[in-house]
Amino acid sequence: MTILGATGSVGTSTLDLIERDPQTFRVEALTAHGDVAGLAAAARRTRAALAVIGDAKLGPQLAEMLADTDTETAAGADAIAEAAARGADWTMAAIVGCAGLRPVMAALAAGGCVALANKESLVSAGAIVMEAARSHGATLLPVDSEHNAIFQCFDAAAPDRVRRIILTASGGPFRTRSRAEMAAVTPAQAVRHPNWSMGAKISVDSATMMNKGLELIEAHHLFPVGLDRIEILVHPQSVIHSMVEYCDGSILAQLGTPDMRTPIAHALAWPQRMAAPVERLDFAKVGRFDFEAPDPERFPAIGLARAAIEAGGARPAVLNAANEVAVAAFLAGRIGFLDIAAIVCETLDRYDPPAPDSLDAVLAVDGEARAVAGRMMEGLAA
Ligand code: NAD
Ligand code: MG
Repeated sequence: MTILGATGSVGTSTLDLIERDPQTFRVEALTAHGDVAGLAAAARRTRAALAVIGDAKLGPQLAEMLADTDTETAAGADAIAEAAARGADWTMAAIVGCAGLRPVMAALAAGGCVALANKESLVSAGAIVMEAARSHGATLLPVDSEHNAIFQCFDAAAPDRVRRIILTASGGPFRTRSRAEMAAVTPAQAVRHPNWSMGAKISVDSATMMNKGLELIEAHHLFPVGLDRIEILVHPQSVIHSMVEYCDGSILAQLGTPDMRTPIAHALAWPQRMAAPVERLDFAKVGRFDFEAPDPERFPAIGLARAAIEAGGARPAVLNAANEVAVAAFLAGRIGFLDIAAIVCETLDRYDPPAPDSLDAVLAVDGEARAVAGRMMEGLAA
C-alpha cells in the first residue's frame, strides 16, 4: 500500500491503523511535502520501500535520515506522482488541495483501490477523475466521512430508487456567530473545530462551510443522483455522518463517533470489515440529535459551490483554486475571515474560462485562477 500525504491528519490516522497490523499491511511508498522528519520516522517504522518528499530541496536531508535503512528516497512533485504510479494494491490519497490531483490520476491509471480523502481533486476535475477510474478499472473508495457514510448506505444497483442524499454538516466553530462576529475571528479560532481534529485548510473550510460546498460537488461526482437531490443539513453533534433516503420513505444513515479512523478502516478493509480503535458511541451521553438548515446569508460559500457545480465546466476548478489561495492568505494573517468567500466570488466573476477537457487543462485553469485570486488579494492588502 501507498500513503500520499502520510504526515497529515488523514495520513497519520491511516498509519495508526496499519501499524497495528504490520503482518497484513506492507508499505510501498509514503509521501509528504515539507515534514521531512515525520516522513522519515514513518518510513523507518513501517519499513517503507520508498519515501518521497515533495519539497525538492529537502531531498538530501531525507536521504541522509534514511541512509541506514533499505528505504529508497526521492524528492519533488514529479517523484510523488511517480510513487503513486507504482501502483500499490491500495493507495490512500490524503494530500491536501489540487496538488493531489496528478498523484490521484497516476494512482488511478495504475488500477487498484484508491481511497480518496483528497476531495479537491474531485472538485477540480470530477469528470476526468471518475472517467480515469472507469477506464483503468480502478476502484475509488470515498474516505471523506460523509461520502463514506453515503457509500455505506447507497444501493449502487438501484440509484433510481434513491430520493435524496442528506449530507450532514457540523456547522463548524462559527455556526452560531453573526457576520459581524465572523469578520473579526482569528486563524487560531477558525482551526479549532468543535468535533473533528483535522488539517488547517479543511478546518478553515469547515468554518466557512466551503467544506460542505466542496463535499456537495464531491457527492455529485461519486453518486449518480441529480444535484437537486443532494441536500445539506446542519447536525452539530457530528454523529450521523450522512443519510440516503429511498423512494419508499426509508432513510438509511451511518453513525459513529467523529473519528476518521472509522471511514479509513472501512476503506482499508472493504469489502470486508476490520476492527478500529475508536471510541464507542455512547448514545446516552450524546443525549440528543439536533438539526437545522444551513444559513445561506452567513455561509455564502455553500451557495457559491452549488452555483459552480450547476454551471459545470471550469467553474468548480476556479472555485477550488480561489478558495485554496484565500484560505492560505487567511491562515497567514493577510486577509480577514469574510474575505475568503468574497475572494472566491470575485474570482468566479473575473475568470470564466471554457470547460477543461484534460488533466493539463484543469491544471492550467487552476494556475490561472490562483493568479487572479492572488492579484485580488494584493489589492486588498494594499
Ligand atoms: P493535512 O494538512 O493535515 O495534511 C496534508 C498532507 O499533504 C501532508 O502529508 C502534507 O505533507 C501533504 N501535502 C501538502 N501540500 C502538498 C503538496 N503541495 N504536494 C504534496 N503533498 C502535499 O491535511 P488533512 O487534514 O490530512 O487533509 C488531507 C485531505 O483529506 C484534504 O483534501 C482534506 O480535505 C481531506 N479530508 C480530511 C479530513 C480530516 O479529518 N483531516 C476529513 C475528510 C477529508
Ligand atoms: Mg467531510
